This record gives sequence, structure tokens and C-alpha cells, in this order.
Amino acid sequence: TTNAYFRPTWIDVNLSAVDSNVRLLKEYIGEKVHLMAVVKGNGYGHGMLEIAEASISAGATWLGVASLDEALAIRSKFSHDIPILVLGYVAPQYLSLTSQLRITVTAISLEWVQEAARIVQQPFDFHLKLDTGLNRLGLTTIDEVEAVMKMVSLNPNLNCTGIFTHFATSEDMQNKSYFHQQLASFHTFLNVIPNRTNKIIHCANSGATLYHPEKPFFNMVRLGKALMGPPNEGLKHLLPMQLQNTLSLHSILDLVKQLNPGDKVGYVGEYTATQHQWIGTIPMGYADGWHQQFKATSVLVDGKRVPIIGRISMDQLMVALPRKYPTGTRVTFIGQQDNEIILADEIAQKASQPRSEIFLWIFCLITVVDC
Ligand code: PLP
Repeated sequence: TTNAYFRPTWIDVNLSAVDSNVRLLKEYIGEKVHLMAVVKGNGYGHGMLEIAEASISAGATWLGVASLDEALAIRSKFSHDIPILVLGYVAPQYLSLTSQLRITVTAISLEWVQEAARIVQQPFDFHLKLDTGLNRLGLTTIDEVEAVMKMVSLNPNLNCTGIFTHFATSEDMQNKSYFHQQLASFHTFLNVIPNRTNKIIHCANSGATLYHPEKPFFNMVRLGKALMGPPNEGLKHLLPMQLQNTLSLHSILDLVKQLNPGDKVGYVGEYTATQHQWIGTIPMGYADGWHQQFKATSVLVDGKRVPIIGRISMDQLMVALPRKYPTGTRVTFIGQQDNEIILADEIAQKASQPRSEIFLWIFCLITVVDC
């Protein structure tokens, strides 16, 4: 992203807001519960190392990542020895590396544990993943769990330090039955696991931590979205604390011109002016993650919503302006100008995409830290 230093299109990540969010979440879960900051996917597009650093200094005691590569990036950048759990698949052949670097891995299936037991030469830490209904990773039957526990008792290299599961529907407040079913299934699994008191037990993501009176925290919660702001604008009224949004996305008007009636705008002449009209060109396009689906969303200029017109190009797009503005005027795609605000949730809703994906689509832009 070297060109992004010179291109006036940028993301601001407010690390003081991350700090405040993490402190409020810590207070809510209580001091006996670990807070794992889930920073996979480049910290949900906010910058993995920056979010990890801010979360740790505000009290996070674990980091969660998707891959061994992400774990290695963190270990090589940070001097502190924070525990890291790789939540995704790690091939058993890399377990000597994870053992050396004190990285905890996820045991994703009975087959995975059997393969690990067969090839591993030294003790390594793992958390056992139980599949209670997401049908992604994890053991699915009591028999499998008992088989793993037996192997653990016989093989000192298999160091099971935690047990966890992951919810599929923790933000569905209309129908909580699948959530309750998963939680009940987790309890059933836990009952057959010996020596549970010296293990880290965890299941709650942001939704399960914030919106459910059961507070299924056990001794750790795994929070991604909540670190970066309210996880779901539609459920903001249920939040037990005031979380702040942390990311905003901006650019400028680099050219402003007036169209005559009949003038066309953009590739294939998708838009035609019906009267004299001011428009602005902005250095932002689909290569930056601003996809055609986002055309239904306005952008902010001078505190007002203005529409995108014509087809979005690879690195540029045009907007209709209510009047002439000087070039260099700030344009906000996500964030606030005066009393107007565009939230990532609004864009996600209009584009029918999960909000985290919106952040990741724009993560190729340079992240500017604005504390
Ligand atoms: N735990 C696991 C296994 C995950 O995959 C994720 C993210 O998808 C999280 C926790 C964090 O979820 P959330 O962003 O909803 O807090």
C-alpha cells in the first residue's frame, strides 16, 4: 500500500476508542475472566498489530488469530509473551514450531489429534474445539471427546489446556433456541471432560458476551467485533455499556466540475445529467474495496449526504454535489461530519453483507492511527 501514503484516501483507526472499549468490556466480564482479543483478518481490517497492542495495554490477556502466520507475525513484532490461540487449522507438522514459540493451537477433530500424537516429538499446548452446531471445526460426539481425553492421559506431549466452542446465532434475538441448544450441548460435552478446573473454558464471542443474560463467560470470552465498536447497530439498545466506533474512512474531492444537461458520467454512460449540475471526482474505487453494491450508500461532503453517480471505476468514483465545492474538500465514506453519520452497518445492510466484510474489503487502504 505504499501508494496510499501519497493518495488522499485513508482509514483512521481511533486507538483510544479501542482502549476505552476493551476497558469497559473487561469491567463487564469481571476480573476472573480472561479477555481474548480476536485480531484475525488484519484485526477485522483495522490493523492486526495496532489492535493487538491497544487491546493488551487495556487489559486483554489472550490474543486469538486465524492462522499460524498471523501468530508468527505477532510473536515476531511483540516482545511480550502474551498467550496466543490459533482459532483455525494448523497442520500437525508445524507443532514443533508452535511449541517453541508458545503458541496454542486448536484441535479441530479426532483425526487431527491422532495425527498430532503420531508425529509430535515434544509437548505442545492445544485447546480442544467442540462443534455444538456451527458445523465448521470441532469434535461432534461424546465418543470422540472421550477418545481424545484417553489419548491425552496416555501421551504427555498432548497438553490440553482449554476447551471451547463457537456460536452460530449469538446475535439472533428473535430466535434464541439454536443458541440455547448450542450452550446446552457445550455443557453436556464439558461433563465428560476430567480435570476441567485447570483448563480455560470458553464459548462467548461478542454477541454471546453482550446480549445474553446467561453470561456464558466461563473463564474466557473471545471478542472481535466488540473491540471495534457496537457489534450490531440494531442491537445497540441491548448493550450493557457504551462502545465507541473506531474506524472511519475518508478521501477528498480531487476535481469539481459542472455538467450540462445530457452529459454522461462514468463508464458505459450509466448516468445522464438532466440539468446543469455540479459533480466531484474522488480517488476511491472498487480496487479499494468500494464495490458497485455500495452505490446505494451516500457519502458525506460538508456534513451532507450526497449520492454516488455513474458506475464506480477501479480507483475513482463521482458524486453529485448540491453546489460548487473547492477541490480538497473532505469526503467521508464511513464516519461522521457535523451531525451526519454513515456507519459501516448501514453500508453492510444496503449491500446485504456482514459488517466485518465491509471492513475487510477496504483493508487494502493505508491505516492511519489517530489517537
Ligand atoms: N471465536 C472464534 C472461533 C471466531 O471465529 C471469532 C470470529 O469470527 C470470534 C471468536 C470473535 O467473534 P466476534 O467478532 O463476534 O466477537
